[in-house]
Amino acid sequence: MSKVMVDVHGVRKSFGPVEVLRGVDLQVRAGEVTVVLGPSGSGKSTLLRTINHLEKVNSGWVSIDGELIGYRRSGDKLYELRERDVLKQRTHIGFVFQNFNLFPHLTVLENLVEAPVSALRRSRKEAEETAHRLLDRVGLADRAGAYPRQLSGGQQQRVAIARALALEPKVLLFDEPTSALDPELVGEVLDVIRDLGRTGTTMIVVTHEIGFAREVADTVVFMDDGLVVEQGPPSEVLDRPQHERTRTFLSKVL
Ligand code: ADP
Ligand code: MG
Repeated sequence: MSKVMVDVHGVRKSFGPVEVLRGVDLQVRAGEVTVVLGPSGSGKSTLLRTINHLEKVNSGWVSIDGELIGYRRSGDKLYELRERDVLKQRTHIGFVFQNFNLFPHLTVLENLVEAPVSALRRSRKEAEETAHRLLDRVGLADRAGAYPRQLSGGQQQRVAIARALALEPKVLLFDEPTSALDPELVGEVLDVIRDLGRTGTTMIVVTHEIGFAREVADTVVFMDDGLVVEQGPPSEVLDRPQHERTRTFLSKVL
């Protein structure tokens, strides 16, 4: 078995009086694709955001490739890392948002070059070569000079995926990457994610695309009300769910 790449251990997170993650455990092995399903408000986005320390946990911890995220351990105490150390850790954690979040004033190429040059201190030449290779991979080799507003939503999201890959992340997190797209553009984005899964990229994908989950996921995780209710291979969670809440959810989305 491959090593554990993402380890979420006993994570609790509250906003004010409301506890939205109530003790989440999740392990993702290197090269595996985990799809997270669950009703709106169940805590899926918050879970992804705690993984890259955009949200601080109230208790529990997250590690990536054996390295604690956002904290350093000393004895049995955890101390919060400085912002700049957290930013460095985040370069290992790719994040693809629902709304693409490209830099609107930069060309496609510049969107891909910016972080490797500023955060990883790559040479511009090397960063541009990598950017062209990645744009080719997501089928946009000819759009390097375009601005985001000149692209369709599907194209913008493929650029966002290429931009995340430019930092050579240890894991890629996707938060409903196709939810903002017109239906006819969903397929081209899922195709890119599927291709990444085949080539061994470790990914956690929050999506409502059950067909995609069935085909691409090694593990499907069903969350409800801040907890992982059920997890396993798609053939179990999707076809023979053990919990009533999973059955109810699937009957609504299938
Ligand atoms: P999901 O992605 O599964 O729809 P979220 O993680 O976005 O769920 O939200 C879980 C719960 O946490 C929701 O009730 C939401 O309103 C609440 N929540 C999320 N972010 C915040 C925040 N920054 N402040 C207050 N409440 C929040
Ligand atoms: Mg969400």
